[in-house]
Amino acid sequence: MTLTRLIRLAAELLYPPRCVLCQDIIPFHAPRGFCQKCRENPDIIPEPFCPKCGAPIEYEGTCDGCERLAPRVFDLNRSVFAYKSPVSDSVHRMKYAGRSDYARAFGKLMAELIPGYFSRAEISFDAVVPVPLHESRLAERGYNQAGLLAEEISKATGIPLVNLLTRVRHTEAQYNLNPSQRRANLAGAFVVNLGGDENIPYKNILLVDDIFTTGSTLNECSAVLRNRGAAFVGTYTFSMAVRHHTVDKFSQI
Ligand SMILES: [Zn+2]
Ligand SMILES: [Zn+2]
Repeated sequence: MTLTRLIRLAAELLYPPRCVLCQDIIPFHAPRGFCQKCRENPDIIPEPFCPKCGAPIEYEGTCDGCERLAPRVFDLNRSVFAYKSPVSDSVHRMKYAGRSDYARAFGKLMAELIPGYFSRAEISFDAVVPVPLHESRLAERGYNQAGLLAEEISKATGIPLVNLLTRVRHTEAQYNLNPSQRRANLAGAFVVNLGGDENIPYKNILLVDDIFTTGSTLNECSAVLRNRGAAFVGTYTFSMAVRHHTVDKFSQI
């Protein structure tokens, strides 16, 4: 056994690898990332989905969020997990606690689920595009989590990764804003990287982010891509803040 291997073994005995979701210890010879339990039975958002945004619904038709926040400029959104513990804790660690390695496992899972989520659209994507961070945020964090997710998706699917968008304005945090304030806050925040104003050479785009909250960021990015000739923008996030009003309508009937 080489010294490096010995050191790695000792490190793993002291700090055994843990599941990126439930934090259970992963046995020594098992693959890293998700533990066996989370891999075999992922607690993903169950069908039926809102046909537009992918939120869980308990009634026919588009969800309240899509009705309230119309127009949805993206063609179709799908999100894997509801943003609640332990998923929210993991996303938080990925973004704010330096666990960029989580994005590798998350992106791989996202890639595996693409056929089920997007096959009905009968679309073949020309480019995987991450939602960009503003350069000041990127400098602070050191990585763009959406970029890492997109990179893994690209590696696993062969769809080219294209950093097509730049965030030119540092926007205010969105959680206290209502929908129209969110739209105003994001207006002009993103631009296409290719100079000029000619159409981009990608028709069908898979736009990737870590979380879908109201969809306003994805909507704004989709609008920018549409303005430059994208024919179809599918948006895809690892998690979604599932709003209770998506089921309220059903419970009131
Ligand atoms: Zn687990
Ligand atoms: Zn919806």
